[in-house]
Amino acid sequence: MIPNNFDKFLVSQCQKLDIKNLVKSIQEELLRDLILKSEINFEDVNIEFSYSKTGFDGSRLWLKCPICSHNIRIIYKTPNNFIGCRKCLNLDYESHIYKKIKNKIWD
Ligand SMILES: [Zn+2]
Repeated sequence: MIPNNFDKFLVSQCQKLDIKNLVKSIQEELLRDLILKSEINFEDVNIEFSYSKTGFDGSRLWLKCPICSHNIRIIYKTPNNFIGCRKCLNLDYESHIYKKIKNKIWD
């Protein structure tokens, strides 16, 4: 129904379909689907992708750890050629080691 001149509505009262947002949403969905169907080869190990939904109606892409299959942001390769997440490879940050050394010295 089209309102007559006496029944004007405000733009803010109306639902809207914005082509810019529509295209952006379709592009993001297509890109996500394309990435999820693919794998990346990292040092001869195939790494899968996954995604999770975020609180603000968005999504976040992840790498899947080849050892534990958890969603992770970073995959590591150790000097002795093991590939996985920090937890699986039992990796430590340098700052943690310095802290441990410092604590041993001062204990
Ligand atoms: Zn892992």
